[in-house]
Amino acid sequence: MTTYNEFYRRSIEEPDAFWTEQSALIDWQQPFDRVCDYDRPPFAKWFVGGRTNLCHNAVDRHLEARGDQAALVAVSSETGGETTFTYRDLHAEVQTMAAIIRSLGVTSGDRVLIYMPMIPEAVFAMLACARIGAVHSVVFGGFASASLASRIDDAKPSLIVSADAGSRGGRIIAYKPLLDEALELASIAPPKVLIVDRGLAEAPLRAGRDVAYAVLRKLFLGASVPCVWLESNAPSYTLYTSGTTGTPKAVQRDTGGYAVALAASMKHIFRGAPGKTFFCTSDIGWVVGHSYIVYGPLVAGMTTILYEGLPTKPDAGIWWRLVEAYGVSGMFSSPTAIRVMKQHENEPIFDYDLSSLENLFLAGEPLDAPTAEWIADALGKPIIDNYWQTESGWPILTLANGVEQKGTKFGSPGLPMYGYGVRLIDEAGEEITEAGRKGLIVIDGPLPPGCIQTVADDDARFVATYWSTMEGRHVYSTFDWGVRDEDGYYFLLGRADDVINTAGHRLGTREIEESILGHSNVAEVAVVGVGDALKGQVAVAFVTVKDPRAIAGAEGAARQRQDILKRVERTLGAIARPAEVHFVAALPKTRSGKLLRRTIQAICEGRDPGNITTIEDPGVLQAIAEAVHPPAPAGRR
Ligand code: AMP
Repeated sequence: MTTYNEFYRRSIEEPDAFWTEQSALIDWQQPFDRVCDYDRPPFAKWFVGGRTNLCHNAVDRHLEARGDQAALVAVSSETGGETTFTYRDLHAEVQTMAAIIRSLGVTSGDRVLIYMPMIPEAVFAMLACARIGAVHSVVFGGFASASLASRIDDAKPSLIVSADAGSRGGRIIAYKPLLDEALELASIAPPKVLIVDRGLAEAPLRAGRDVAYAVLRKLFLGASVPCVWLESNAPSYTLYTSGTTGTPKAVQRDTGGYAVALAASMKHIFRGAPGKTFFCTSDIGWVVGHSYIVYGPLVAGMTTILYEGLPTKPDAGIWWRLVEAYGVSGMFSSPTAIRVMKQHENEPIFDYDLSSLENLFLAGEPLDAPTAEWIADALGKPIIDNYWQTESGWPILTLANGVEQKGTKFGSPGLPMYGYGVRLIDEAGEEITEAGRKGLIVIDGPLPPGCIQTVADDDARFVATYWSTMEGRHVYSTFDWGVRDEDGYYFLLGRADDVINTAGHRLGTREIEESILGHSNVAEVAVVGVGDALKGQVAVAFVTVKDPRAIAGAEGAARQRQDILKRVERTLGAIARPAEVHFVAALPKTRSGKLLRRTIQAICEGRDPGNITTIEDPGVLQAIAEAVHPPAPAGRR
């Protein structure tokens, strides 16, 4: 048996041979003639000349051997729905959706924006796009009108697929009014809108623009829509992610490289196999949902579970009931979800037969030792941390236990995955070779198959944002600090940019700041991520106002605070809502006017902000400290 070291070495030193082997995990309509074209770094083209289709690999190719096997199980603890679609059912539904989408004028290369709750039609829509070569762009259903509008303007979709509403913890979230508002805010000509009406909220259709899925579905039931064979480098989808600026980036992915990367990861990392069941609790709006709810498990011929609802409703045992009911072998979730579950540790939440479960994979944010130990004890199964990003599409650091079993180390996601030339560099850009020294995690180009191809429509932004040169090589920055131990295991030490991670969701502080700045009485704002026991980090806002009279007195301040929070919720969505809003007289800045967000963050977390020589007015820091940790009233200790 190959050792992991040897497997990894081959992936780096003999990439053509290595990836040719992996490419056999998927079907090709036409073989490729070049494994990797890196003639124009940092742009990498994988499997050049090969023709394939993601939907064929996820659905059609399984029909013969497993047409009657469950492909998709859609469970909603919100509506009580629990529906199983076999591969044959899925094939039919996807073709119907593809026929509908085509009837609305969408052809290969067009973009389709999907703004949907966790319902099977969202998966049909993604696969239908892949089938006809349309590029989908799923926008997380938790985002509100302004976030959605900026993504609509950027994506310029020919079609938007949406629904009347989602539901969270019993609360109906009407999507249609948010979409209508977003389309009014957007500056592009309105695209067609396809609405799936679940009967949860009023969703009046606008004549000439909106069409009802239910009506078209009847028309196209039984349609046969063949897969469009795409060159491996044709884009399969774009997915927005936050960065340092207020405008999210559309991470674009290819077709063939992504299919190979997912098939390989399902085998080597997630230990999936045809006929087994995978349950990833993420949302289709995030990269984890794209890779490990939809495409990965289906490409691997597994049954995948799509879950709408909270991990704690009707009770905190709901996910474990599903593990028993569907014989889940691999489960993928986030540390925050496990911490939420831990709050219910005195309830009989694990009282199910969990014998089918082989591994629990957790990702998206740092996995703290107490959480990892608690869930490892409760399940008696290996807990595998994995570190990656929207940009990578599959894990960068973890353990490839499908290749060789390696021990976990609490606090570390593990080792560099095959194909990723992971390195650490110091502030001067020099490579760190010794163990134990903190550096920026970078990856040698070319990035392996499945990773970001470019920022959609903006090659220059892709190069400028992520790439630098080091000793003549192109290196990709992850924007994460890390440290490596003597066994080669990496430990994550936080972001090096203004991105925060709340409950495993990546948010740009700039986006939240811009939303708050839209409030008429706000003069300046700084948003920072502050450590939180449950969510990992939460956003905290510091605001200076134009008219201080509006915040005079506790009531005035409370009203203004509510106004600001409501604004963020309405424009960006509840996930971006700061946990606290503090009114201060001034914000700390450098002499050149740059906001000292990291200094504010240190104060909030009770850390020493260090020696700040560039600060314009040190008194401002004292005021921030008092806003966060108000001094006890005189006479009380
Ligand atoms: P996203 O692109 O939304 O998946 O966010 C990616 C970022 O989340 C990474 O750059 C890290 O900062 C953080 N992250 C993801 N997985 C982990 C992990 N296992 N441990 C620590 N941080 C993580």
